[in-house]
Amino acid sequence: MKLSFQNVSKSYGIVDALKDISFEINPGDFLFIVGPSGAGKSTILKLILNQIKPTSGSIIIDDQDLSTAKRNYIDTVRRKIGVVFQDYQLITDKNIEENIALALDIINYPQEKIAARIDEVIKQVNLDSRRFLFPSQLSGGEMQRASLARALAVEPELILADEPTGNLDPENAWNLVKLLKEISKDSKTSIIMTTHNHEIVDALAKSVLRLKAGKNQDQKEVEIQEKDDNKSTVQEEPKKDQEDIISLEKDSKSSADSPKKKSKSKRSRLKVKSKK
Ligand code: ADP
Repeated sequence: MKLSFQNVSKSYGIVDALKDISFEINPGDFLFIVGPSGAGKSTILKLILNQIKPTSGSIIIDDQDLSTAKRNYIDTVRRKIGVVFQDYQLITDKNIEENIALALDIINYPQEKIAARIDEVIKQVNLDSRRFLFPSQLSGGEMQRASLARALAVEPELILADEPTGNLDPENAWNLVKLLKEISKDSKTSIIMTTHNHEIVDALAKSVLRLKAGKNQDQKEVEIQEKDDNKSTVQEEPKKDQEDIISLEKDSKSSADSPKKKSKSKRSRLKVKSKK
């Protein structure tokens, strides 16, 4: 999906959640949004989902400004977006297959193709042997992969992953990010992921946009770059990959959270290495 924020600000009453944010993604791009709690990450996702409107600025999706788009267009765009949540948000009294089927039903996916589509995505996230289990019978990593399968099922042009690794151990976190990377490369699905996971961000970092107190102070650093075909695997040594990061800093005190300042010695043993 082609998406751009042009000088977007969002205030909730007297609270400036976002101030003058600009960025752009193209099909297949993988964009990280990082920043401390309250920096405005969820606000960006809600704006993309059109759950809230910007106070000023424009959000353009596939060359159409959302503020002037017709209801039909907005509904169509919404159907092209899959969402993955930190707490999975699977329906507890439905098994994994049924959870995915429901998502397909909601978008009126052709009935005769639903079984085949479920089969495809369940295999894609390696949950074939778990398809008839209920969420309570799955591990955190499995639940998050089920949630990814549900998001993928609708053949989205954009996946919004809101802190998807927040409840996962390092190995499952990396497995999930690897899956997301493969999806963005294989299917040209764009991915926007918010995260607190500095290891993942450090290992994949390339360009950074730094925002302080919700204000973009360094817009010239925004650069969406061509991706290469590096494949991430869990290995011993980190290597920088080509991804884009928006770093939201609530205030100057939070700069210790910034990926740039994270010292290598603090990394755990689980790292990403590029495999050409
Ligand atoms: P993050 O996702 O990075 O934690 P949010 O986007 O949730 O940050 O919030 C950004 C700022 O906007 C915070 O200061 C938060 O308190 C404020 N905010 C978010 N939603 C609302 C709301 N509905 N009403 C008032 N203030 C809000």
